[in-house]
Amino acid sequence: MLTDIISKEQQELLVQLIRESDTIVCTCHQNPDGDALGACLSWAEYLRNSHGKDVQIIIPDQYPDYLQWLPNSEKIIRYDKHREGCDWTLDHCDLVFCLDFNTTSRVDQMQAALDRSPARKVLIDHHLDPDVDAAVTISHPEASSTCELVFRLVWQLGAFDQQTKHFAIPVYCGMMTDTGAFTYNSDSCDIYFIVSQLLTKHINKDKIYRNVYHNFSENRLRLTGFVMYERLVVVSRHHASYFTLTRQDLKRFHFVKGDAEGLVNMPLQIKGMKLSISLREDTERNNLVWVSLRSVDQFPCNKMAAQFFNGGGHLNASGGRLYCTMSEAVKITEQAIEAYQQELG
Ligand code: 5GP
Ligand code: MN
Repeated sequence: MLTDIISKEQQELLVQLIRESDTIVCTCHQNPDGDALGACLSWAEYLRNSHGKDVQIIIPDQYPDYLQWLPNSEKIIRYDKHREGCDWTLDHCDLVFCLDFNTTSRVDQMQAALDRSPARKVLIDHHLDPDVDAAVTISHPEASSTCELVFRLVWQLGAFDQQTKHFAIPVYCGMMTDTGAFTYNSDSCDIYFIVSQLLTKHINKDKIYRNVYHNFSENRLRLTGFVMYERLVVVSRHHASYFTLTRQDLKRFHFVKGDAEGLVNMPLQIKGMKLSISLREDTERNNLVWVSLRSVDQFPCNKMAAQFFNGGGHLNASGGRLYCTMSEAVKITEQAIEAYQQELG
């Protein structure tokens, strides 16, 4: 059986906030991943099913192709494409659910509108140190994913029976993607209790897996080969590696958003590898390099991301950005690896 994730007082306040609100927005961080999108879609589904609410999902920018099969994803509104309408909605809605982020800077270009919104906010998230000014904060960094928290909340509220596969599919998708298909951060037995419950809604979990992970274009597969063959630098003595993707490389392989997703996990397949770093030039802005970090065991990616890459995240999966050229980014990455040689040892 699952333990409660919020106190009875918080639960009452949450339900009261939902009941009092006519228009509700669900939002998530920029560059939304399976967990961010899954949390928005499943929580919105709960609000509609169990409360009959009018819910709009507004996300900061584009989401990857490999999530476009998610039920109801076509109703999601992109802030970067519909700025005026979204600003109006955020200025006039009653309640905003902030899902899968801990601070409003994570919504990037939507931050001003979110900060300014007079709506009350509820945060549901699993990143460390939340600092969103919310009426209810549901923060559990020990959870596998925000989707796990959405499930647990709906379970605690006694509303799971009312949900359909349109709730279960995005929850499963988010739990799966935030744990690398249950290969990291996924030792809690609660996760498998939740999965067994989701299966009672007749989801096809193998199809969800294929939709997400076997959804590559030919270009993406060839990009993978190219990166691993030509661009991967293995620093064997420190059990670390990094690779670069320049704008030219991206162009050559007809890069579309999401194509680089998951590449950073691959070097961890090398025996003994503890840290993998990806450096990717922005396709438009000069002097902007996107950084992704992945590690195994106790190596703190988030500490390294905060110290060297203007970012943060989880122990084993973090991200950040550098405002410099690729060759400068490589130097910083090499310095970061040297600085952490003891932890990598
Ligand atoms: P990715 O490498 O997939 O972009 O990010 C990996 C993880 O790091 C994600 O869970 C994401 O939430 C987190 N992350 C990425 N960039 C940042 C950042 O700038 N700050 C913080 N706190 N977390 C980040
Ligand atoms: Mn997440």
